[in-house]
Amino acid sequence: MQPFVALFLFYILTFEPLMDVSIAVPNSTCTLVMRRDDLLHPQISGNKFRKLKYNLLEAKDKGFKTILTFGGAFSNHIAATAAAGKIHGLKTIGFIRGEELAANYLDNPTLALAASLGMEFVFIDRETYRNKHNPAFLEALQKEYPQVYIVPEGGSNHLAIKGCEEILDQEGDVNFDYVATPVGTGGTFSGIIRALKNSQKAIGFTVVRDSNLEFFIQSNVTSNASWCLNADYDFGGYAKFDDQLIAFINWFKTTYQIPLDPIYTGKMMFGIFDMISKGAFPQGAKILVIHTGGLQGIAGINQKLSKKNQKLII
Ligand SMILES: *Cc1c(COP(=O)(O)O)cnc(C)c1O
Repeated sequence: MQPFVALFLFYILTFEPLMDVSIAVPNSTCTLVMRRDDLLHPQISGNKFRKLKYNLLEAKDKGFKTILTFGGAFSNHIAATAAAGKIHGLKTIGFIRGEELAANYLDNPTLALAASLGMEFVFIDRETYRNKHNPAFLEALQKEYPQVYIVPEGGSNHLAIKGCEEILDQEGDVNFDYVATPVGTGGTFSGIIRALKNSQKAIGFTVVRDSNLEFFIQSNVTSNASWCLNADYDFGGYAKFDDQLIAFINWFKTTYQIPLDPIYTGKMMFGIFDMISKGAFPQGAKILVIHTGGLQGIAGINQKLSKKNQKLII
């Protein structure tokens, strides 16, 4: 065999995408490792892949041909569901918050992407949208669409949580003292908590102000699990951010060649770096942070930033 052929074969046979990346933190004894779940799939990224996995299997198992779900105009869940539906041969319907979007939704990068993947939209007013978790509303919807498998907003049902337990699927995971993730609905965080070993603690960086969040998580995990929510880095609430966060995200990308989004992962990493610099972790602590994906959202944010003549995310 030619040497280069052997080398090529060796490369093919041993190649695995590098999912865990060491992040060198200046002036710290902490070990920080990032799990690149954003690289799980080019279109169904990060935790949305984990959350959809068992839902899609269930839908297929039960013979459904269509998935119906909910989301805002920039929703990673909407983009991921559209892509997953396309790949698995399931039709997708998105109930989108905001009637006004119906007129020009193709101007929105997330909805344009979802539409190109075959998703059909129903635009609903904010008042109606608030019912999305209401059992009576969902029951009526299921009656109206008897043939569809309904996935809740953000995808956070028990099957989603089961999928997120698989985020901690590496043998060496037991060596981490802390596992951190951004928290929206709390489904991903619940899965991570369920997969923790006794000695480990989970830290959830909340990005949305939701008084039910703690209760939701409690109801999904055992009472002796060790976890906490940190609300110090939400930058004012869901999808709110400032120049400082954008500057951090751009610095992080330049320094580590890893992109972060401003809604979820950027806030978590800003928080982790700030906590480390303030000595919030014991000497030599080993911290695993989950890159939950969400990078498709950057295009929409940059569109907003450029309209305001502000610095863009690189
Ligand atoms: C949806 C999302 C989250 C939040 O996940 P939940 O399970 O709703 O808490 C975190 N990060 C990214 C990138 C997301 O898209």
